[in-house]
Amino acid sequence: MKYDTVVIGGGPAGLAAAIKASDSGASVLLIEREARLGGILKQCVHDGFGVVRFGEKLSGPEYADRFIKELKRTNVQVSLLSFVTRTQKSQNGYEITYVCRDGVKTVDCRSVVLATGCRERTRNGICVHGDRCAGVYTAGAAQNLVNVLGVMPGKRVVVLGSGDIGLIMARRLTLEGAKVAGVYEAKSVPSGLTRNIHQCLKDFDIPLYLSKTVTRVFGTSRLERVEISDVDEKMHPIAGTEQLVDCDCLVLAVGLIPENEIAREMSVPLDPKTKGAYVDQNCQTKEDGIYACGNALHVNDLVDYVSESGETAGVHSAGPVCKRDLKPIKTDGKLLYVVPQMLDVNSDVSKVVMYFRASEELSAQKLTVSAGGQTIFTKTYNKLLPPEMERIVVDFGKATTDGITVRLEDK
Ligand SMILES: Cc1cc2nc3c(=O)[nH]c(=O)nc-3n(C[C@H](O)[C@H](O)[C@H](O)COP(=O)(O)OP(=O)(O)OC[C@H]3O[C@@H](n4cnc5c(N)ncnc54)[C@H](O)[C@@H]3O)c2cc1C
Repeated sequence: MKYDTVVIGGGPAGLAAAIKASDSGASVLLIEREARLGGILKQCVHDGFGVVRFGEKLSGPEYADRFIKELKRTNVQVSLLSFVTRTQKSQNGYEITYVCRDGVKTVDCRSVVLATGCRERTRNGICVHGDRCAGVYTAGAAQNLVNVLGVMPGKRVVVLGSGDIGLIMARRLTLEGAKVAGVYEAKSVPSGLTRNIHQCLKDFDIPLYLSKTVTRVFGTSRLERVEISDVDEKMHPIAGTEQLVDCDCLVLAVGLIPENEIAREMSVPLDPKTKGAYVDQNCQTKEDGIYACGNALHVNDLVDYVSESGETAGVHSAGPVCKRDLKPIKTDGKLLYVVPQMLDVNSDVSKVVMYFRASEELSAQKLTVSAGGQTIFTKTYNKLLPPEMERIVVDFGKATTDGITVRLEDK
């Protein structure tokens, strides 16, 4: 079988990419390993999705449904319960091998869109010692149990991590009847959006403990208690500060890591700052014909931006593979990262969408984008928080595109 574009992953990024690639005239195959489309949105029953795009507060399934309905209008072929196991270069593009209900299949395509989302960091990833008992879950696994399978993961819960996912799960488990003993955070400031601190914790009297982490778990077959320790500025546990908290469930909301096994296999260079691929303004990676979008590219805070990058990848993956002239985009120390990390000056540079995060909480900042020694864009911010991703649109049209730098400095 031959397709112009193969999209791997049927979450919001992959759905948007497949729709746009098809609308741009490409024959498209969308491969999804689960039984239903929608990705992580299927289990996000809270509202707050789509505020930027639709001006409405939708639940995750409602947001996904709008794109699934759109997809049905196109000629995109969808292969569910299909897991991509191998990808390699072929004469005219790429060869994608996947396992599905019919066995092992291989298809050829001109371009590939990687929309594989994120993985969650696990107990091993953060070195929590102790017994190997039941009752320790990642936030996504706990969310799947409650919201999709209708099973409570525990009755007395400790949540580790105050990012949005941890906050949302603390509220969700409380609403379903669990007692949340507290949300514990190793940093000295909460990681989640301010609105979520209020709506998920304060409104439900759930305590938030800062500069603390879980250092050990205890339980014979089921979790019985966790050991909590204070941490220093480097987030190392401080000996002698240990305290025990009784619980039968530990929810780990300790970070997402872009899922890039396939990118690695295809020798796509990854940015150590984002853990996703280096891309140009069209979401094309350093490998011609391979595109990355959504959470596989970098961890987004809002699904609206996930869909936006999916659409960009989709439109451009449908076109022919053209010769690019890539110029690097450099950042200064106060920025955690900027995406895209390169500009293809052979392509349209007049409306370049850039996403960035600050490396720490900063007030009164000025962002400057310069090229060829000239300032081409500035914006001031009263406050910048690392959990909140920022989006700007820059016109590089008349600028010399050598020496592109994005800088944050005090206002
Ligand atoms: C608990 C939680 C709460 C959130 N709350 C909000 C919110 O309030 N507002 C908001 O805007 N956003 C929120 N988000 C973020 C939003 O859900 C994500 O940004 C978005 O779902 C990411 O989309 P994606 O398509 O990149 O990845 P995903 O949704 O993760 O989709 C990736 C898809 O790729 C598939 N896949 C992966 N590897 C393979 C493979 N090898 N073969 C085949 N298929 C594969 C997966 O099965 C999955 O379906 C929340 C996220 C979580 C987890």
